[in-house]
Amino acid sequence: MPRQSLEEILPLVQNPSHYLGTEINTLKKDPGTIRLRFALAFPDLYDVGTSHVGIQILYHVLNARDGIAAERVFAPGRDLEARMRHEGCPICSLESRTPLSTFDIIGFSLLYELNFTNILTVLDLSGLPFYARDRDASHPFIIAGGPCSFNPEPLADFFDAMVIGDGEQVAVELAEAWLESKDAGEDRERTLKRWSKLQGVYVPSFFEGEVNPDGLQVLKPRFPEYRTVHKAVVNDLNQSPYPDCPVVPFGKPIHDRLSLEISRGCTRGCRFCQAGMIYRPVRERAPDTVLFLAERGLANTGYGNLSLLSLSTGDYCAIHMLMEGLMDRCAPEKIAVSLPSLRVGSLTESLMTQIKRVRKTGFTIAPEAGSQRLRDVINKNISEQDLEETVQNAFGLGWQLIKLYFMIGLPTETEADLSAIVELVKRLQKVRGQNGRNGQITVSVSTFIPKAHTPFQWCSQMSVDESRDKIHRLRSELRGGRLRFKWQTPEMSLLEGLWARGDRALSRLLVKAYEAGCRFDGWSDHFQYKTWEGAIEACGVDVDFYTRRSRDLSEPLPWDHIDPGVSKEFLKQEWGKALEGEETLDCRHGDCQLCGLCDFEVLKPVVFEAHDPVRADREVRRGEEEGPYKKLQVSYAKRGLARHFGHLELVKIFVRALRRAGIPLRFSLGFHPAPKISFECALPVGTESLEEHFTIQVPLSVSRETLLERVGSQLPEGLTLTACKALGQSPAEAGPRRFHYTVTLKEGVLLEAQLNEFLEKNEWPFTRTNRKGRSRTIDLRPIVKELNLPSADRADMILEESDGYSVRPTDVLRSVFGLSEEALKAAGIIKSPASKGI
Ligand code: SF4
Ligand code: SF4
Repeated sequence: MPRQSLEEILPLVQNPSHYLGTEINTLKKDPGTIRLRFALAFPDLYDVGTSHVGIQILYHVLNARDGIAAERVFAPGRDLEARMRHEGCPICSLESRTPLSTFDIIGFSLLYELNFTNILTVLDLSGLPFYARDRDASHPFIIAGGPCSFNPEPLADFFDAMVIGDGEQVAVELAEAWLESKDAGEDRERTLKRWSKLQGVYVPSFFEGEVNPDGLQVLKPRFPEYRTVHKAVVNDLNQSPYPDCPVVPFGKPIHDRLSLEISRGCTRGCRFCQAGMIYRPVRERAPDTVLFLAERGLANTGYGNLSLLSLSTGDYCAIHMLMEGLMDRCAPEKIAVSLPSLRVGSLTESLMTQIKRVRKTGFTIAPEAGSQRLRDVINKNISEQDLEETVQNAFGLGWQLIKLYFMIGLPTETEADLSAIVELVKRLQKVRGQNGRNGQITVSVSTFIPKAHTPFQWCSQMSVDESRDKIHRLRSELRGGRLRFKWQTPEMSLLEGLWARGDRALSRLLVKAYEAGCRFDGWSDHFQYKTWEGAIEACGVDVDFYTRRSRDLSEPLPWDHIDPGVSKEFLKQEWGKALEGEETLDCRHGDCQLCGLCDFEVLKPVVFEAHDPVRADREVRRGEEEGPYKKLQVSYAKRGLARHFGHLELVKIFVRALRRAGIPLRFSLGFHPAPKISFECALPVGTESLEEHFTIQVPLSVSRETLLERVGSQLPEGLTLTACKALGQSPAEAGPRRFHYTVTLKEGVLLEAQLNEFLEKNEWPFTRTNRKGRSRTIDLRPIVKELNLPSADRADMILEESDGYSVRPTDVLRSVFGLSEEALKAAGIIKSPASKGI
């Protein structure tokens, strides 16, 4: 039994709301109906994992099946991990707080090599053996999927099965096969055998690693009929389910918006790009379907931002028409639409004009290489003129920030190519000078990492020293003139490259690094290269063997048994064309480049050419109503789990609840319209309250009763609306406000003697230092109107605001009773208006 429950630990960690599992649109099934528990595990923080569309898709397709419950789990922050270990608290799913070890299947998303250590954190906190060979019938199946599984070998020892390719159909097939296997009373090996018959499923234990005479690891299949794993493909996205009511995360996820996948696959053919090879062919979702999903998704989430996802959004054939339809729908409600992955050349003036109808969203351009020669090598078919025109248009239309992405260390790169980056950026700065004097350009540089299944998979990766030198040079030459320079840490790129082309021999390195304390290696504030170096040395891993060495085209590769559909022959041809600087055309409009994937019957590119403009469904559209408006003051209580919400997330929760409830909002004017809603005071995280207020402006037609009923039904557990009253034009007379607080301690004691000492004094100076380090000293005596100790672990007090400055009850307890931070964080605090009492 854990010494403390998660509930007791949460007040002591950062971002407690990330561990609640009470978000809008979470699905909690009746335990009596569940035959298969499927944990969807994301090996990174909640902020990152909840932004990933793949998890949302899997969550909904699995939960749509009777008898299957899919629940989420994310890697805990390091502070929570330490507390869980200390208290013996196992990691649990968010939805039902079920320990992960009791699930039937745990599926990890493998999106990024530098998350791999976090997989072991989740397994470790579940009490599960790391290696598949050490698990038995008492353990769940541990599986994985995502782009990193296209070279599954470095992680093959940890997983029972891995999904190669599009996961949504396979996940359901895996679940159904598991149920059939269970009904048939089969053992683990038989279940794996069933799974191995599904397209896209790799069972690592059905292959054995051997070292060939050249010292290279090759895999020997255990079963003659199971030698190659062909990737799973969703042939037609329009027939494939997509969530129209995704979970709306708390806090500040990295992508805090409704994400709509408008197409999958990109066949531009950039030769360094793994996604462009493994997710072929292009499959677009029909514009009408996208619009329908946008309508439903916005209504069900209340988001004020919508993002169109694709590897290259601007290449979506009907993008102009779609944007027009979407902006007609979104602009009246001030919902911004962003296209996060635009390609130069696809970014036209008319598209930019549509984007800026609500708000100018981010603008990122990826020339990748500075010289035309090198862009030809990598098949990035954009010209200098395209780049200049795009930058000119963006600044001309009022954008203030443009981000440029470059890679260094690309095959055949010379000094001249590096100089070309500097020259190109300077030319683009001049373009900015003419059109956007205040505009800023941010240059981001990362080290080229050769990836499996690309034409550059045989190439050498630059060393850390070379990478550092090149970054240093660019950094010193790209200074000033409203230019920012950012770069990816070369050591991180080295590790990413190691895992990207590694083999099974690396699994023990991962365990060693994990045991030495490595976590969240993709986060610069957590990355511990020295610790990695120690683990590499201890395991005797030759990093250069995996990264620096150019591989012979005939050499067996660790991922040769994984078939992405694109043939090795095609990749070799592309490598040859790269050396000649020869172009390969995009095949989406019919110019098949014979990569080997499509049969043109079942599998082929699916695109939708522009037709009549798509229009929003006027029936369900809720635009902003024109004035006049009335002002309402809404009262609410924040109890139970809702005490973990910080002020800013609370604001977001209410704004989205208002949108979902269909209450028209009034917005501020300007470039970044914000809803007109104001909160009386910011309640600290951890404090419950019986009565808080916000003020909102709504059209006269919205009644108080309607607002209470409709918004009230849209709030997460612990938040309730308690009253709503009309406010006059002028603010009500207000004297100093008083609040009653009850504080119940879990640890520490409150001594009568200390209370008496405080009450006997006429003055009690107290100094508080804010986050910026600024201190302020005030006298607590006139502020603390009452202070009583009904028991040694409970304090009741009435505090009055002084000159608009409010003192927290924890400040009083810290100052008067000398309580520790830890004791104050763990305490239960309930606030109420002084007139009402508890
Ligand atoms: S445009 Fe190039 S880099 Fe971008 S997704 Fe397509 S192939 Fe990859
Ligand atoms: S087979 Fe032809 S059309 Fe299909 S993805 Fe490959 S190049 Fe494109």
